[in-house]
Amino acid sequence: MICAAFLDRDGTVIADKDYLGDPAGVVLLPRAAEGLRLLQSAGYKLLVVTNQSGVARGYYSLDDMHACNERMSALLEAEDVRLDGVYACPHGPDADCACRKPQPGLTLQAAAEHGVSLPHSVTIGDKMRDVQAGQAAGCGMNILLSDARDPAWRPAAPDLEAAARLVLASADR
Ligand SMILES: [Mg+2]
Ligand SMILES: [Zn+2]
Repeated sequence: MICAAFLDRDGTVIADKDYLGDPAGVVLLPRAAEGLRLLQSAGYKLLVVTNQSGVARGYYSLDDMHACNERMSALLEAEDVRLDGVYACPHGPDADCACRKPQPGLTLQAAAEHGVSLPHSVTIGDKMRDVQAGQAAGCGMNILLSDARDPAWRPAAPDLEAAARLVLASADR
C-alpha cells in the first residue's frame, strides 16, 4: 500500500510571498521540515501540488517557477527531507483547467504516477481550495493549516508538524 501526503507549497511548506518568482525568496516555514520528516519516516510519499497562476499572469516565467521549486527541494534536502514530486498548475483562474485547485486534476495525476492509494492519503494546505481539491480527489484526510479560512473545517492544525502528528495518530488507530 503506497500512501502519500499531498502538500500545498506557498503558506504550507514555504512562506507565502504572493507570486514568488525569485528562488532567493524561498524560505521554509517553521516546523515544516520536521513535519515532512515525520511523514517521510512513516512511509508517506511527499508530493507537492501547487497553483502557480503567476506564470499565466506574466509575473514570472516557468523557469523561475522551477527554480523556486528546486530551491525548496534543496533546502528540504539539507533537512533530510526528500520530495517525491512537485506538480504545478501554471494556469490562471479563467483558464478553466482541470489542474488548478480546487480542481483535483493534479492530485489525481500525482497519485496515478506514484501508484498512491488516495483513501489512505492526506492533503495538507493553508487554503480551502487545497483541502477541497484533496476531498474531491478522494483523500482520506484533508487538513487545513493555521489561519483557517473556514473555522468549521476539520481537521485543522497550526503548522505542518502538528498536521503530521494528526496524520500519524489517525493511522495508528
Ligand atoms: Mg497556500
Ligand atoms: Zn491548470
